[in-house]
Amino acid sequence: MAGEKCIALIAHDEKKDAMAAFARRNRDTLARRKIVATGTTGGRVLDAAPDLDVTRLKSGPLGGDQQIGAMIATGQIDTLIFFVDPLTPLPHDVDVKALMRLAIVYDIPMALNEATAEKLISTLND
Ligand code: PGA
Repeated sequence: MAGEKCIALIAHDEKKDAMAAFARRNRDTLARRKIVATGTTGGRVLDAAPDLDVTRLKSGPLGGDQQIGAMIATGQIDTLIFFVDPLTPLPHDVDVKALMRLAIVYDIPMALNEATAEKLISTLND
């Protein structure tokens, strides 16, 4: 992965079906890029589109969001697609906030819902 920027994918539990469908729908675009994902999300994405180049990090509640935040801070991520569940309290809410904050600090294109993700991914057809 050295030297090549990645797209980061994360989906909260209630949004994992939507992320799997998103990966299937956008398989061709995603197949041209390196992908990092939190653990369970990465597994679901690979189930949906097994040929994608997905590096699975820790699960979000166990530090995966923070790993992606660190990758943003070190310039390794150029796009963040994060399907957030706004209706369920999360034990790692502070990590979620911290990740969003770093995406803002480093001005990384970030989609937090499906509608925005579809628009953002449509710009990545390079
Ligand atoms: P997960 O982590 O993909 O391992 O479930 C994402 C999250 O729920 O924060």
